[in-house]
Amino acid sequence: MVEQYVCTVCGFNMVEHYPSKCPFCGASQDKFFKLLTLTSRLL
Ligand SMILES: [Zn+2]
Repeated sequence: MVEQYVCTVCGFNMVEHYPSKCPFCGASQDKFFKLLTLTSRLL
């Protein structure tokens, strides 16, 4: 399983890294939710 963190503001997706803020839109960490996926390949 691979952890991904998705920004709910802009949809930016980070794999196996929980950012302190979104590098794309600057949203704070609490705007992210965690996904578990089988692979790191983005669909
Ligand atoms: Zn964002």
